[in-house]
Amino acid sequence: MMTVNNITISKTTSKKEKPDQTQLGFGQYFTDHMFILDYTEGKGWHDPRIVPYQPITLEPSAMIFHYGQTVFEGMKAYLSEDGDIHLFRPEKNIQRLNRSNDRMRIPEVDETLALQAIKELVKVDADWVPSEPGTSLYIRPYIISTEPFLGVAPSKHYKFMVILSPVGAYYKEGINPVKIAVENEFVRAVKGGTGEAKTAGNYASSLKAQALVASQGYAQVMWLDGIEKKYIEEVGSMNVFFKIDGEVVTPELNGSILEGVTRNSVMELLKHWGITVTERKITVEEIFEAHKNGKLEEAFGSGTAAVISPIGTLAWDGKEIVINDSKTGEVSKKLYDTLTNIQYGKETDVFDWIV
Ligand code: PMP
Repeated sequence: MMTVNNITISKTTSKKEKPDQTQLGFGQYFTDHMFILDYTEGKGWHDPRIVPYQPITLEPSAMIFHYGQTVFEGMKAYLSEDGDIHLFRPEKNIQRLNRSNDRMRIPEVDETLALQAIKELVKVDADWVPSEPGTSLYIRPYIISTEPFLGVAPSKHYKFMVILSPVGAYYKEGINPVKIAVENEFVRAVKGGTGEAKTAGNYASSLKAQALVASQGYAQVMWLDGIEKKYIEEVGSMNVFFKIDGEVVTPELNGSILEGVTRNSVMELLKHWGITVTERKITVEEIFEAHKNGKLEEAFGSGTAAVISPIGTLAWDGKEIVINDSKTGEVSKKLYDTLTNIQYGKETDVFDWIV
């Protein structure tokens, strides 16, 4: 046992066999270690430790099972050309974790400790960062409420944990556009709700809509605002961008959209390239109208998993439009290449995004 930056590290004595790097998929394999930090009322967050990956024990009455007071994050570690391990803007994820905490009434975590924990854990499991092109080590920080109590109230105890999972390349045969259906019945979030927080309930409530469109041959849903069902919010679990007549637009943050780290990076890159990018309200009607007038040049989602996911077909109200002949647009491609090159250390990181 040793201690680094106040984090106690107990290493496993039996390392697992590594999976085949060409068959990783997403979130199926877990590394040898995990990070745990406990919260007890009156004591605060305590006992940061890295231990062998193992089951945890909770009372059946633990609050997480009943009222879903929980938050999570998703980010990746990339193996660079020169053998270094890169994190991409991890401080942004940790800041978002604390914004989610605030919304879910979970005590905030120390951002310096959270970043150190992630760095130390990735170092301990460094041999799990895959090296095949496009692969990475997915990092899942999360907090659960653990107090054994059935009253609807904020829990008095929590566990902050970080687990790691080697994941495969999102695009095995190159970046390719997907079919998306605008969701008219179900909504992901409403103003005043929890859409801005990365919390389990948002994802649980998205499953039914996702299953219905999947049965109709669409990859994902495009979510509309929960009140007028008129304004575009997100696509699947990604933020969304449109290029209309040379200008890039994306829905403005309104309290129900999750603020993506990739979304922010896309906007910074576009500005850097001198492309106008505007955050504003966008209706589906406007997108279909722009398509009719030949002005809808590109549409794409942005997120940690895919980086950029071009939208080739968009269905709404019985109509279907094909965007850019269902080919990856120039801006989508350039964003994808630049972001992945920065992540894997193949391109100068002018923004200082890599840690
Ligand atoms: N929206 C939702 C609902 C998401 O779950 C995610 C993934 N975290 C995103 C957008 C994209 O965020 P990021 O770019 O930080 O991955």
